[in-house]
Amino acid sequence: MIAAGLCETCRHARPLTSARGSTFWQCGRAATDRRFARYPRLPVTRCDGFEATTAKLPAVGGPVAVAWSGGKDSALARHRALLSGYRPALLVNMASADGSVRFHGVGGELVARQADALGAELLQVPTAPEAYEARFEEMLGQLRARGFAGLVFGNLHLADVQAWFATRTARAGLAHVEPLWGWAPAEVEAQFLAAGFRAVVVSVMEDRVDRRWLGAPFDERFVAALAARPDVDVCG
Ligand code: SF4
Repeated sequence: MIAAGLCETCRHARPLTSARGSTFWQCGRAATDRRFARYPRLPVTRCDGFEATTAKLPAVGGPVAVAWSGGKDSALARHRALLSGYRPALLVNMASADGSVRFHGVGGELVARQADALGAELLQVPTAPEAYEARFEEMLGQLRARGFAGLVFGNLHLADVQAWFATRTARAGLAHVEPLWGWAPAEVEAQFLAAGFRAVVVSVMEDRVDRRWLGAPFDERFVAALAARPDVDVCG
């Protein structure tokens, strides 16, 4: 059987087996959108219509905001949300008390420049760790009051993290959107680069990754170096 690539895990794909035993993949989007072939040429390695079977893409009745760290996962989540028909109109960055990005540590001004480049409004919410939950819920209330219908996250596979955000987002009356949920980390890397995004390594755990990678482009070479370490998740 030919590897189908993205079609294998796409909610719009349907495998068909011919009388001779060959397997084809039928694209459900082709019925309503001429950009897609009914029987795509395999393997499909890049597709703007791809939606993972595991992704959480609830229907919404208005614009959505995007939880934005300035990193690759939030950028790809916003991109995939757009391709799935959502209207991301605001980026929300839950920052450290000094305004820098939590965990990555880059300055808040970089996030502001990213928002400018995307033509998106930015809401930066500085908070200390002990006040995070209260500030997060306060921010959700603001989104709701402003007419936002949901919040997009770039979570991949950490179920406890996803559940924490899902509970609070639903309690605030907002849809919880996870375009990348369940994606294999290697697929995230491949689709991030294939979509034309560029990123730079800004932070490493020195006990796992050599600090000489700091400042390096996030590319196939860096991903290969991470993949060589069994104790490292290539999506961080
Ligand atoms: S939308 Fe793309 S990935 Fe999904 S079935 Fe169609 S061709 Fe395959």
